[in-house]
Amino acid sequence: MAEDIPRPPYSRFKAFLFLTVFAFGVIWAIAHFTNNKPKGQDTSALQKVAQKKENLATKESAPLIQGEIPEAWRDDVGVPVLCYHQIVSEEEYRKKPTPFAITAEEFTEQMEWLHENKFYTILPDELLAYTKGEKNLDFSNGKRPVVLTFDDGNNDFVNYAEAPMKKYGYKGVLFIYPTYIMAKPRKKRALTWDEIRRLGKEGHAVESHTMWHPNLSTMTDDEQRAQFRDSKKALDKHAGVNVKHLAYPFGVHTSKSAELLRETGYTSAYTTFNGGNQRGEDPYLLRRFLIVKSDQGKIFAQKTLARSLPYRFENFKGGDILEGMRDLRLKIPKNLDSSHLKVRIFSTAQKFEYVPQSGILTVHAIPSKKALSVLEVVYKESGIEYRASVLLNHKRDTLLAQHVSGKTEKNTQNSKKVKKKKRKKKRNLANND
Ligand SMILES: [Zn+2]
Repeated sequence: MAEDIPRPPYSRFKAFLFLTVFAFGVIWAIAHFTNNKPKGQDTSALQKVAQKKENLATKESAPLIQGEIPEAWRDDVGVPVLCYHQIVSEEEYRKKPTPFAITAEEFTEQMEWLHENKFYTILPDELLAYTKGEKNLDFSNGKRPVVLTFDDGNNDFVNYAEAPMKKYGYKGVLFIYPTYIMAKPRKKRALTWDEIRRLGKEGHAVESHTMWHPNLSTMTDDEQRAQFRDSKKALDKHAGVNVKHLAYPFGVHTSKSAELLRETGYTSAYTTFNGGNQRGEDPYLLRRFLIVKSDQGKIFAQKTLARSLPYRFENFKGGDILEGMRDLRLKIPKNLDSSHLKVRIFSTAQKFEYVPQSGILTVHAIPSKKALSVLEVVYKESGIEYRASVLLNHKRDTLLAQHVSGKTEKNTQNSKKVKKKKRKKKRNLANND
């Protein structure tokens, strides 16, 4: 590892294990809701709405007032952002199936589908300008903008994504964490700096995925700041770009992340929460759809056409640390039919109150045993589902505490558990042999 790369303060492997489990949880929750609620997500109905409202985005729009929900939120079909991780050959997939990977064939089909359905790609600068109400995008004659993002810096992009995208003039966004590219010995699947520079020159966006892909919710503000600053510095220098956008590793952030990103020269950041990005969206909480193996045909179509519920934080922020029972207040659109509202935290229904006159939604959040959870607000109207998701951090030990007091008791217990599990796994493997 190069000397200027800060070494992770705790086992990356353990963090990876934990976060993989968390990410699967999130994916499961997302897949669960998308698959089990097909009634409200008829794609032809969505297409119709999209077409009916096609001219909205090209009309003059009133400037956005910070904190206000745009009046015409129902008409804003938003911009979907798709998030790809691994694209592999059929053979590779058969050998090592992982839900994060899709096959090259499936990717090519998805590009064809996007092209047939009049999608054109835009890059993060344009999306940001749209959400701020500074720029109109072309929605005429059924055209739809989309952002294609690729996380981590895998060379699957040059092997399998570049050609099918080029066919339709599509440009992508590479969210790269530099230690992956700089690792010694070289990671087999990683892009090289030469490839990244070339892709940047050819019009793809090269942006940050932090320095070494940590779970930001376990970091102090200084540690987060270093992740943002150092990754920008490395990418700017080695790829010859000017990084301004970031994708949170595992989609995880804290309530301070946005401020620290602004400080270090970033103008927007991407989560892994569902929904199209509408005017008035928080630029540091942009929504993305994880594209996973099972996302073929109808599910893929649903993801590209899904609608969003706009929201504003009232007495808390996304990524806030919650201790104990708490009333969380969000501002959502006014005059909704509250019988069509559902609020869940990690798929468990929550008690809430909604005041139609003000649009204030109060959720009585009970503490979760999990460190991270997702607050979801779902609203159904005329067969269309509008959704908002917010990340919550429940009280947990911070890295700072660990630095001060050495290993915490809980962590020692956890590592004991992991070791025990490992031993058990070894035993099982031995038995199988
Ligand atoms: Zn990643």
